[in-house]
Formats: sequence, structure tokens, C-alpha cells
Amino acid sequence: MIQLEGITKSFGSLQVLKGIDLNIDKGEVVSIVGPSGAGKTTLLQIMGTLDKPDAGRIVLNGVEVNKLKDSQLAAFRNKEIGFVFQFHQLLPEFTALENVTIPALIQGDSAGKAEKRALEILDFMGLTERASHKPAELSGGEKQRVAVARALINHPSVVLADEPSGSLDTQNKEELHKLFFDLRDKLGQTFVIVTHDEGLASQTDRTIHIVDGRIINPEVQE
Ligand code: ADP
Ligand code: MG
Repeated sequence: MIQLEGITKSFGSLQVLKGIDLNIDKGEVVSIVGPSGAGKTTLLQIMGTLDKPDAGRIVLNGVEVNKLKDSQLAAFRNKEIGFVFQFHQLLPEFTALENVTIPALIQGDSAGKAEKRALEILDFMGLTERASHKPAELSGGEKQRVAVARALINHPSVVLADEPSGSLDTQNKEELHKLFFDLRDKLGQTFVIVTHDEGLASQTDRTIHIVDGRIINPEVQE
């Protein structure tokens, strides 16, 4: 579903990714772990087409993304990739429901259709009562679940999460992790999750260890 081949990336004279090969199947929950500065965020950004590699190939859901023009890329990304960051990055002036609908509206869905789907997802997450609240009125755990709902609204091929539970307390962390697996089990949703949380990593289907810009457990690669 996602294929990365020979991905390299430098910032100035610093080579951050030194040749990453990785295949991820549909419905897999894959964790990426490794020391700070190892290149995990850079890899996730490249996987998510937010940044471009210096060399290498990325195929996402059959589309070779390095061949897309910038104008096509934004629409492709909005449709195919959901992002969840450490800090929710919800728009403060908008309600939870509005935040969740935005990617669907960008995609060209009608307001009615976007809202219906957003309410379904919020309901799945037990957030129906919170739909009309703005981010400042939500707990940290609720904000992250709204961010996950926003990531899911366009039925993306993959959700990429960068330390999604890094700012949550234990209970909210566990709820968020459970949500990822529920979404995989019920919707077949694919996840790639950068995490420092060993509990989460140990529950995922596969853990990719990145050290100094390289995957160091190639034996588990297919
Ligand atoms: P991780 O997420 O594993 O902590 P990152 O991918 O964020 O690592 O960063 C890897 C290295 O690349 C770090 O040394 C970081 O300082 C550097 N880096 C990341 N992004 C940039 C950038 N936009 N410009 C310059 N250096 C960067
Ligand atoms: Mg990082």
C-alpha cells in the first residue's frame, strides 16, 4: 500500500535519511521508534508528501507521488493521507465538528455530506456531545480524538501520526491507542505511528527501528 525505496534526505551537509526501504500493507499498524534526531519525523513528512526526498521513490496506493505536480499533490495529500501531530493543531476559532469537516470541504464535498460523515466519526469516538465545542473547551484527550476524526474524514489510505500521545496523560494515552486499533479492526484503517511509547509500539503489528537515518531491523521487512 505504501512503498518507499531508497529514500535519502539531507538538510545542508547533514544527511538525515540514508536510504530507507519500507513497505506497509493495508490494515497494518506500524510503529516507528528510535532516538531523538534519528530522522523519524523527516521520514513521516516525506511519506506524507509534506517534504520531498533527495532521492528515492514513494508509491502510495498505486500512485508514484514523486511524479505528481505540486498542484495535484495537495489534492492527493488531502484525500489520501490523514495526519495526527503531537499537538492537535485544531483551528481554535472553529468547533470540533467544523474542524473535522474542513478536509472534506477542501475536497469539494457539500457541507451537508461533510457534516454527516463528521458526525458519524465523532459519534464512533464518543464525542457527539462535544461536536459544537471549540478546542479550548475540550480536554487534551478529546482534542487528540477530534484530530484523529479530522484525519479520517476523507477515508485516507493511511493515517500518519507523529508522537500522537506524546502530550497526553496515561489514561488519555491508552484511550487514544485503543482508538487506533479499533479503527484498524472496524475500518481496516492503516496507521504509521512515530512513538516513544513502548507500550504502544509493543501492540503494533510491526515496529521499525530508525537509528541515524537508517532502519536497523531489516530482517523483519518483507
Ligand atoms: P526525529 O523525529 O527522529 O527526532 P527529525 O527527523 O525531526 O528526527 O530530525 C532529524 C535531524 O534532522 C535532526 O538533526 C534535525 O535537527 C534535522 N532537521 C530536521 N528538519 C530539519 C530542517 N527543516 N532543517 C534542518 N535540519 C533539520
Ligand atoms: Mg520527531
